[in-house]
Amino acid sequence: MKKLVKNGTIVTATDTYFGDILIDDGVIVMIGVELEAQGAEVIDAAGCYVFPGGIDPHTHLDMPFGGTVTIDDFESGTRAAAFGGTTTVIDFCLTSKGAPLQSAVKTWHDKSRGKACIDYSFHLMVAELNDDVLFELPQIIDEEGITSLKVFMAYKNVFQADDDTLYKTLLLAKEQGALVMVHAENGDVIDYLINKALADGKTDPIYHALTRPAVLEGEATGRACNLTELADSQLYVVHVTCAEAAWKIEEARKKGLRIYGETCPQYLLLDVSVLNLPNFEGAKYVWSPPLREKWNQDVLWDLLKNGMLQTIGSDQCSFNFNGQKDLGIHDFSKIPNGGPTIEDRFSLLYSEGVAKGRISLNRFADIIATSSAKLFGLFPQKGTVAIGSDADLVIFDPYAERTISASSHHMKVDYNAFEGMKVTGEPVSVLVRGEYVIRDKQFVGTPGYGHYLPRKRFNQPERLPLKEKSLGGVSG
Ligand SMILES: [Zn+2]
Repeated sequence: MKKLVKNGTIVTATDTYFGDILIDDGVIVMIGVELEAQGAEVIDAAGCYVFPGGIDPHTHLDMPFGGTVTIDDFESGTRAAAFGGTTTVIDFCLTSKGAPLQSAVKTWHDKSRGKACIDYSFHLMVAELNDDVLFELPQIIDEEGITSLKVFMAYKNVFQADDDTLYKTLLLAKEQGALVMVHAENGDVIDYLINKALADGKTDPIYHALTRPAVLEGEATGRACNLTELADSQLYVVHVTCAEAAWKIEEARKKGLRIYGETCPQYLLLDVSVLNLPNFEGAKYVWSPPLREKWNQDVLWDLLKNGMLQTIGSDQCSFNFNGQKDLGIHDFSKIPNGGPTIEDRFSLLYSEGVAKGRISLNRFADIIATSSAKLFGLFPQKGTVAIGSDADLVIFDPYAERTISASSHHMKVDYNAFEGMKVTGEPVSVLVRGEYVIRDKQFVGTPGYGHYLPRKRFNQPERLPLKEKSLGGVSG
């Protein structure tokens, strides 16, 4: 079935123009003015922007943590993501020391298969780099198309890897064409500070932030950048929260290093003061790294605007306030870390970024979709509006106004960290590979419709022009 998106204002990372988009068999086959197509279903996008579907490069769906499991799984999480204009998520496949990587990947396929409403892929965590892992990793990169590897520099005795592992992962990534991702905080010192605070009887949520100071994020970020330089490899720093860390990335990029940074809506819009809310409400805002002093937000916005930070991930990791977050009611270190952000990532960045004049429309498209597609080997199949690309489109009404609330959101989680915030602009309809997932603000998708996406290697050479006539664009 063909579809024709008429009269929208098409926005990509580089262009804004008025036009029609013809979709056939899930792929964009023609873009032009006043297109006609016999038998095509017409989608009226007059008065709307047509954006490439959002790519969320950082989610934790159905993830075990601290004795519990995130409340939103691949079904509720991807449905909520679709409402918010996201058409692809890349989730973190966790591994554990001593267990085969292949079994972890299988677990993640089992969590997502038959449930995801939008397309998805996985990053793979590297906890250690022994001979078994060194043997298995290249196979997984090759066969599963998992071309990004996550190393935790924090969460001592849980996820944390040592510098030796990080360095060897960087070397392997260089050789294999993978992108190393780090959670950059100094886990050893944080562990000491947490134990000291608890010994002093300091158990409230605010101590979560006070035991993870910004300087320790800056230190770990700088260390990861230095090791990347030494390995001549490539690095992506997830969830950058503060100037100390962001400036390290800026400095490294100015040296010409292949170093990239992601921030999240919560670090752009919320600050550490909410951890002091009474009645344990501060637990709703326990992320790692933690929320920072407000002045850091201006630094993050500036670096997003000028390209020193490239992407925005949700770091979706939702735990109910009642029954999950309250595991830490007497001990901040037992509060499950994370919050619900998958649904509002797109709208928040548009409303606070574009509508408030902090970033341009094209920069928005780049941050919300294109940069992630390029860094994670999905471009140009995903991340843009172009002939040959998947028809992942967001028909977006920039005039709509709404108030974010747990009472109207589509995640399962029982609170919203942005409760009461007014946003300008809202996705009206969302297509994934040419099929409606959201139609006129109603969910019409199907769990299991989402495809698993194997990804290209980092900086894989572009293919040469084809000599025979072919639909260009889609990578082979
Ligand atoms: Zn995360």
